[in-house]
Amino acid sequence: MQYENVIFPDSVGFQCTNCGVCCRDEPPDINLKEQQRIEAKGFVNFLEDPKDPSNRNIRRKKDGSCFFLTEENTCKIHDVKPSICILEPFIITDYDNKTNRIFVDLNPLAVINCKGICTGELIVPEVIGKAAQTIVKEFLEIVAKKTGLPVTDKKVSSLTRKLLLRF
Ligand code: SF4
Ligand code: SF4
Repeated sequence: MQYENVIFPDSVGFQCTNCGVCCRDEPPDINLKEQQRIEAKGFVNFLEDPKDPSNRNIRRKKDGSCFFLTEENTCKIHDVKPSICILEPFIITDYDNKTNRIFVDLNPLAVINCKGICTGELIVPEVIGKAAQTIVKEFLEIVAKKTGLPVTDKKVSSLTRKLLLRF
């Protein structure tokens, strides 16, 4: 299946059941833009280590769950939810920086824990596809800024691919 430049695995059914398991397992690592969007909503003190600019993990509550997870398993920052959370239970497995194609597949950890996989529902490729596109776009912008090169530079897209594969 394909949505614009995002390639999905075939025949994957998924619909989030809002079980909150992924929000308990692993609060996300966010980028600066995502941090700023969350702060613009009035939230403060949500990072694991606010003094370390290289660590943008959202902190856990005492019970280990994400700082933004409510008791009803909803997300307090739904409107500005990090793209990696929207992408869940999928992950980017590759980015072809020559053709600008983004490959997504199920997160192997989610296959075990996510209750929304194989519910018989078809995925909504626009939502997941747009989240994957946003992740790649923001990585490209971050790398371009750090290297001082234009976002369209081949070196930027090649470095972005390496970063994404480590992410
Ligand atoms: S930010 Fe929201 S969706 Fe993401 S892990 Fe936290 S509660 Fe879940
Ligand atoms: S584990 Fe799956 S079904 Fe549960 S909240 Fe996360 S994405 Fe939704």
